[in-house]
Amino acid sequence: MEESMVKNLVEKVPILKEMQKGQEVVWINPDKVSFAESMKDCELSVEDVEDAEARLKRFAPFIMRCFPETKDRDGLIESALTDILAMKNRINQKYGSALEGRLLLKQDSHLAIAGSVKARGGIYEVLKHTEDLVLEQGLLSVEDDYSCLAEPEFRRFFEQYTVQVGSTGNLGMSIGIMSAAIGYRVIVHMSADAKQWKKDLLRSRGVTVLEYESDYSGAVKNGRRLSDEDPKSYFVDDENSRNLFLGYAVAANRLTGQLAEKGIAVDEEHPLFVYIPCGVGGAPGGISFGLKQVFGDHVHCFFVEPVQAPCMLTGMATGLHGNISVQDIGLSGKTHADGLAVGRPSGFVGNVMKPMLSGEFTVRDARLYDYMRDLLEAEDIFLEPSACAAFQGVIRMNQSEEIRKYLEKNGLTDKMKNAVHIAWATGGSLVPEEMRKTYKDTYLDE
Ligand SMILES: *Cc1c(COP(=O)(O)O)cnc(C)c1O
Repeated sequence: MEESMVKNLVEKVPILKEMQKGQEVVWINPDKVSFAESMKDCELSVEDVEDAEARLKRFAPFIMRCFPETKDRDGLIESALTDILAMKNRINQKYGSALEGRLLLKQDSHLAIAGSVKARGGIYEVLKHTEDLVLEQGLLSVEDDYSCLAEPEFRRFFEQYTVQVGSTGNLGMSIGIMSAAIGYRVIVHMSADAKQWKKDLLRSRGVTVLEYESDYSGAVKNGRRLSDEDPKSYFVDDENSRNLFLGYAVAANRLTGQLAEKGIAVDEEHPLFVYIPCGVGGAPGGISFGLKQVFGDHVHCFFVEPVQAPCMLTGMATGLHGNISVQDIGLSGKTHADGLAVGRPSGFVGNVMKPMLSGEFTVRDARLYDYMRDLLEAEDIFLEPSACAAFQGVIRMNQSEEIRKYLEKNGLTDKMKNAVHIAWATGGSLVPEEMRKTYKDTYLDE
């Protein structure tokens, strides 16, 4: 992007100036409208989410057969929703947050099979592709018991096909593990940020891992090119995939049941606030889209990004979405939060979220390690640094003039004692012990 253009943007969108300096910011989305209005021109609907949910149910017997650890939930890949009162007390004391209401942790960090939020979108997309293939060939009908897909004759069928994906790590793990279990040839194109242990784990499952010097966008670009050359290869396109997005969105309906079990209401008097770490946007976007379908105007969705890689915020605040990168405004795109190391946002997600998202927070890397230690000490729960970004929202909630105005404008100020806050923990359970130790001892001075 030309320098003069960037200068113009910064004049029009003043928050960019703070972001260029690497400062933490709080941004309220000026384009948010009522839920009803936000759905008017939306290309996706609640039926699309229901369709995805039904597909995951059809695959449950197959998943249970391949991954016995999913038996407890009858083959559904779902995570616990946990009260974290000790963490709430800790952050109120340590950071002076004065957070009211109830604080919960959605533990997608502990989702079966892939140990991250990617177990929702990534696995769903592989299953959707699989169903498309077998239905097209007349090998199965939607009424059949899908557990037969684990039989050798189906495996031999899937072995002719390849699945490819570009990844900073966790998406590759979920697509790689699931595709290999079904029988596909799998190639994961890993960006420079991807951790060695993730590459090792994938190779141990028979996945081909190609490594790139470049960032995420470069790995995606080359992966897509190689896949397009092969008619029997399917490329999972994290930047544009509607399937991934809908796989994430299924989280919402299931959350309703978990809230009800805890006797938690979400309505006019009991607002729900959700804080989700954001990379390219698919996971937080899909989850938020699903939550909006269920809770409408009563849920307030916030994304959190690293100060050096706030790609979704850059796209949303400028209105340029996928047509601008963090490098364009002079940021490095480099962060310890490997799952969030994305320089250019999904334009598709940006457009869907534009009328729905409440706002964004950015966070310095050093804090992610502090929040990680806080949670570990207070609750004995380990999250990877990327996932800890969620706590930036929780902590900043009562410390920002922008948020105060947002609450006032939406008539929420006196309802905050009844509020429920969910920090969406997006990854961590597969991180090896050695790596956890390194993380625990990491202190950055910034
Ligand atoms: C991928 C990922 C995210 C963000 O998901 P996007 O779809 O890239 O926005 C957040 N946290 C972790 C741990 C992730 O792996």
